[in-house]
Amino acid sequence: MTTPPSDAEARRAIPPVICYPNETLPQPDLPVYRAALESAAVIETILAQPRNACSFAVPAGHFFRISSVEGPQVGDLNLWNAQDLSERFYSGKTRALHGTHVTTGERLWSSFPNLRPMATIVEDSLDWYGIDAFGGSVHDVIGTRCDPYTGNLLAGTQYHHCCHSNLTRALAVARQMSVEEAETHVHDVLNVFMCTGFTRDTGQYFMKASPVRPGDQITFFAEIDLLGALSACPGGDCSAQHSSDTAECHPLKVEVLAPATGALGDWQSPPPNGYDRTHGV
Ligand SMILES: [Zn+2]
Repeated sequence: MTTPPSDAEARRAIPPVICYPNETLPQPDLPVYRAALESAAVIETILAQPRNACSFAVPAGHFFRISSVEGPQVGDLNLWNAQDLSERFYSGKTRALHGTHVTTGERLWSSFPNLRPMATIVEDSLDWYGIDAFGGSVHDVIGTRCDPYTGNLLAGTQYHHCCHSNLTRALAVARQMSVEEAETHVHDVLNVFMCTGFTRDTGQYFMKASPVRPGDQITFFAEIDLLGALSACPGGDCSAQHSSDTAECHPLKVEVLAPATGALGDWQSPPPNGYDRTHGV
């Protein structure tokens, strides 16, 4: 290892600066969203079966709610613009703007060139959890999604019910496309209910048993027309293993809710990002 310079400690002691101060982000009108949610009615209920995924459509201005129903279970969520699958959830930029985990009042942002809010978290029954003594927290945007390629790389396995494959099959069915085409649209997820962090000593991604219990739920407001897919991860509550049939797994419930007419006041779906896209040419 390289010999540290004489001022190594002084360099380490420099305080950090937040990369993206987010005070200037357009803010959601949460009181309006919450009032609209109070009057909203469930119009569709879908179940993601254990080690499988479901898809669902949410019109702009509606809500969707993911609930734990039978036992602790984490879910891997993909979101697309229902009219243009190339606009999809951007986990990395959401992380840069809000942090490693998201909760009430924070938003799921879409990919370039649109970079606009796709969904806003209106309620989160696990918002009490905060950050635990291990540095763990809930609903992460740091993991990618469990996938068969990494399993093959690390253990030589051929496992077909990782979230990546579950999401691929769900999108293929929803859009009547081949799994080869559907796979190209699957992207890094919001890990719903998953409790994760990075170890302080090695910086490695860790998971631990999710604090989610039946009845817990997270509710999103759809800012644009959405197509969603949710996988009930083969890791179950992610207390021990994923990418196998070992863990105890449970379904997850997705409900789509329509607000009462006029409940959103003068709310309007956000336009695409305002950058002119000339890139200095
Ligand atoms: Zn998974």
